[in-house]
Amino acid sequence: MAAFAKLTEAERERLEMLAEEASEVIKAVTKILRHGYYSTNPHKPEDGDNRQQLTREIIDFQAIVRRMEEHGEISLYGSIHKLNDVWLRKLPFTHHQPGDVWPEADARRQRERKERAK
Ligand SMILES: [Mg+2]
Repeated sequence: MAAFAKLTEAERERLEMLAEEASEVIKAVTKILRHGYYSTNPHKPEDGDNRQQLTREIIDFQAIVRRMEEHGEISLYGSIHKLNDVWLRKLPFTHHQPGDVWPEADARRQRERKERAK
């Protein structure tokens, strides 16, 4: 057991796995940003396109999250109902997402769009 953090080896390993999968999600996202959703690795076409890669990595990440929840390390109880609230909280800080939930944020986005169009 890690002394200060008081983690069991299993807990530490799940955290390592979570970090690893998070990095793989990031890698898949950067591939899409660079090459697009439909691009494939010419050296590994059997891996599918970038959209499939991202989907697989998100599922891998979710698998670790679920196991951590089963072990009581995190609790996502009721979180499915919070997903929309999280999105709505983030929306005012976006520039290209549809939704007029907060009129002042929408007005700001419209002003910024007009400024860019000049
Ligand atoms: Mg993975």
